[in-house]
Amino acid sequence: MSSDISPVSGITRRPGGVRAAVQVMAGYTPGEQPRDGQWIKLNTNENPYPPSPRVIEALHGAITGDRLRKYPDPLGTAFRHTAARILDIDPDSIIIGNGSDDILTIVTRTFVSQDGVVAACTPSYVLYRSLAEIQGARFREAPFGSDWSLPPPFVFHEADLVFLPNPNSPSGTMVSSQVLASWIDELGRPIVIDEAYVDFADQNALRLAANSNIVVTRSLSKSYSLAGLRFGFGVAQPAVIREMLKVKDSYNCDALSLVAAQAALEDQDHLRQTRAKILATRRRLEENLRLLGYDVTPSQANFVWCRRHDRPVRPIFDELKRRQILVRYMSFAGYGDGLRISVGTDAEIDRLLDELRRIG
Ligand SMILES: *Cc1c(COP(=O)(O)O)cnc(C)c1O
Repeated sequence: MSSDISPVSGITRRPGGVRAAVQVMAGYTPGEQPRDGQWIKLNTNENPYPPSPRVIEALHGAITGDRLRKYPDPLGTAFRHTAARILDIDPDSIIIGNGSDDILTIVTRTFVSQDGVVAACTPSYVLYRSLAEIQGARFREAPFGSDWSLPPPFVFHEADLVFLPNPNSPSGTMVSSQVLASWIDELGRPIVIDEAYVDFADQNALRLAANSNIVVTRSLSKSYSLAGLRFGFGVAQPAVIREMLKVKDSYNCDALSLVAAQAALEDQDHLRQTRAKILATRRRLEENLRLLGYDVTPSQANFVWCRRHDRPVRPIFDELKRRQILVRYMSFAGYGDGLRISVGTDAEIDRLLDELRRIG
């Protein structure tokens, strides 16, 4: 049967048996990944620096050994022990994921029933809505304050699960763990603190995962330069982790990602060095954007959210794209539009700033 579903005209004919919840959803659209030409890619918050050489070494060892013939460890025991030691937590409080997006899916399956309610603040990561829709749940959103502060917790009183990225995307702003702890107390509902960008921030909320209502998620995609590998993990009370393990794919992380992720965490020096470079470039990017007339939100992540009060930024995005520089254009009801610019290398950011000066 050919597909007669057009996103423009709506559903004209339903392919037999496909769930209504799936038919009506749009599906998540990831950021553009051009495969050709010499692009400066500042649109999906990838790390501009290579991963630790120890990752490459570990991958070589795994390929030449016996790893590919056998199934991987479904629990990622070796990885969890390394992560537990580095983060000073219990290995049984960690669950491994095929990217932290996988953990977000697992948490949704664990906490949200069909017809349940998933909630998030907005503007934020748009995947949360897709996760709700896949689950057949309703999605509730409440706006951040104009200074990116949290809305009062009672707006989410009916939520089965709340998602909060901290630092948030696209703003790069962060709620302090102290404010967060009391907000979550008042909320009294299960919450995911999505710490995909936390390694670029001044603090983190990992300690809050001792609370049975809280799952903290981490990603190796950004700070560890491993977006192509797909590895992330979740931290929660061991009793919560045991429930989450029941609903994950048994072999959700392959043998190569497991050894690479372990090697990446073991090289904390490499993380410190790339982090320091990115934070220095971030500061320079923020300062120069301000000099060019942009309103820049101070960032705790590896990207910067900036806006213009004197004009729409869509034409600036288009001009940059014409010059093979890709940033992320976003527009939100009530917030207006802005550009989210990933912190690249110094050379990439210099090129970007040169072109912005030319565009004027
Ligand atoms: C990038 C990102 C993730 C997911 O990262 P993975 O590549 O799946 O580990 C999760 N949350 C937010 C807010 C992100 O920006």
